[in-house]
Amino acid sequence: MYCIYCGEKMDEGALKCPSCGEETLQAKAQSAYHRTHKEGRYSIADHTGDFAHDDQERNKGMALMSYLPILYLVPILCAKDSPVARFHASQGLLLSVVNFIVLTLGFIFSSLGRIAYVGPVLRVVWQIALLIVLLARIYLIATVLRDKVKGLPFIGNEKIFG
Ligand SMILES: [Zn+2]
Repeated sequence: MYCIYCGEKMDEGALKCPSCGEETLQAKAQSAYHRTHKEGRYSIADHTGDFAHDDQERNKGMALMSYLPILYLVPILCAKDSPVARFHASQGLLLSVVNFIVLTLGFIFSSLGRIAYVGPVLRVVWQIALLIVLLARIYLIATVLRDKVKGLPFIGNEKIFG
């Protein structure tokens, strides 16, 4: 086969042109696939490069508010024209939904708390879940302060206001 960029002959199945160093279309498609399917869903993805730098600078306050209880409503209502604020607000809203579900389950669990063996286990599970949500908030606030845009596993892939 031949390189589509410089026309040089390449080995069959080569991922990179030996002459110009350009990746083949197949190699590019493969790495794009791995970015979205392998890293995208289960790990913390870096979206910093997906948003304009001045948008990130201008809406840092909105981004921080997205991860605080109740205050996440401010970017939802006031920064609809900013893609970066919409991203953070979507993530903040989903985090609050998860938080609400965990708290609701906590009330159900606490009424089951008197059941021997199961009660204490449920309480520990509930406390761990609350801790995870809290750590997620702290982590996301820290990434905003470091001028990064990070998407949490699962939550960061759902764009409500995208
Ligand atoms: Zn080439």
